[in-house]
Amino acid sequence: MSIVLENLERLKEAAKLENISDEHMLVLQNPAQVSYAELSVGGRQLPAWRIIYNRALGPGKGGIRFHPEVSEDEVQSLAFWMSLKNSLADIPYGGAKGGVKFNPKDSSPEELEEISRAYARAFSDKLGQDKDIPAPDVYTNGQIMSYILDEFEKIKGAHEPGMITGKPIELGGIALRGDATAQGGYLVTKEMIKKFLSGKSSAKIAVQGYGNAGLFMAEKLAADGHLIVAASDSKGGVYNENGLDVAALSAWKNSGKSIYEFAGGKAISNSELLELSVDILVLAALENQITEENAARVVAPCIVELANGPINLVADRILAEKKTVVVPDILANSGGVIVSYFEWAQNRTGQILDEDYLKNLLDKKMQSGWQRVIAKFEEKSGKITLRQAAYIIAIKRILAAEKYRGRIK
Ligand code: GLU
Repeated sequence: MSIVLENLERLKEAAKLENISDEHMLVLQNPAQVSYAELSVGGRQLPAWRIIYNRALGPGKGGIRFHPEVSEDEVQSLAFWMSLKNSLADIPYGGAKGGVKFNPKDSSPEELEEISRAYARAFSDKLGQDKDIPAPDVYTNGQIMSYILDEFEKIKGAHEPGMITGKPIELGGIALRGDATAQGGYLVTKEMIKKFLSGKSSAKIAVQGYGNAGLFMAEKLAADGHLIVAASDSKGGVYNENGLDVAALSAWKNSGKSIYEFAGGKAISNSELLELSVDILVLAALENQITEENAARVVAPCIVELANGPINLVADRILAEKKTVVVPDILANSGGVIVSYFEWAQNRTGQILDEDYLKNLLDKKMQSGWQRVIAKFEEKSGKITLRQAAYIIAIKRILAAEKYRGRIK
């Protein structure tokens, strides 16, 4: 099943649990705006998308992904998840996502710059601080955001730093953004340990995906005394039942080396990592990592989705049967977009917001998201999943906005 259809299925399930009418759900069945372009760069034609899924709560907001597997189905699903994520986080955004289909690992820095500028030119009339605000996602970063901003501002003939977030500090970015996704994920993981693992002080944790989010999350959990027993990147992983030396592993990864070659443990495959007997599995790689193929063999009692969509629909049902606790992506990884919101607000108002205040606000927003999801879960006597609880809250806020806008009665 395509990821889009799976999402619609999840939507329907959540709506049924809360008796939301089919007529109301119709407004969430389709994306609000799909934009497609082919970017001509160095003799290549690269398919590129920007999709706004819903904009009842505000302008589009969501990252841009550079990856060889990018497709319209994927970008639309990511835009859908952004809509729910922004709604659940109580921030004034709709949801959007973008992507370019190519392999950034095979491209030179000059080509990456050219592709970023071509992207900004292709979608310049769709983007803007009050229209749709991109940010980094898989294989994009502050440098890519800078090229897009620069090209956009050249076209508009004016500065508009609020048109994009995740920028370097010199261009109006915010220091907190770097590890915001991990920080948010860490805060809800601590809550999850309290509630579902009796506050265990040295939980065994496996982290799939040692990119920006996975690496910072592993460091934060290790600093609390938890054991990171396994970690992986796209080439494979490493396992040490006594806990990996996380600082050494991060230095290894940051020097451009592959995780499976790290000497502090034994090499394992990505699929072996998912089936390890650990307390917590952190999924910080890509979509569809746990599916009908391997869900039955996943034994970890708790999973945190730091990536978007790492568990597919059928796997979700298998895990729910087993009572596996899954902290859903739209809550677990919302720290990134929450801090994007702070950056945008700062750019719009020209005010400098105090960093301690913002750290505290991120913490409060994550706690609030967690508490509202748990309250809904408990209202349904624990008979629904945390994902269903989160979907219900997110959908209701979007539908309330749609109602005020007169799109539904
Ligand atoms: N790409 C990130 C996400 O999936 C961040 C989006 C943003 O900051 O707009 O949540």
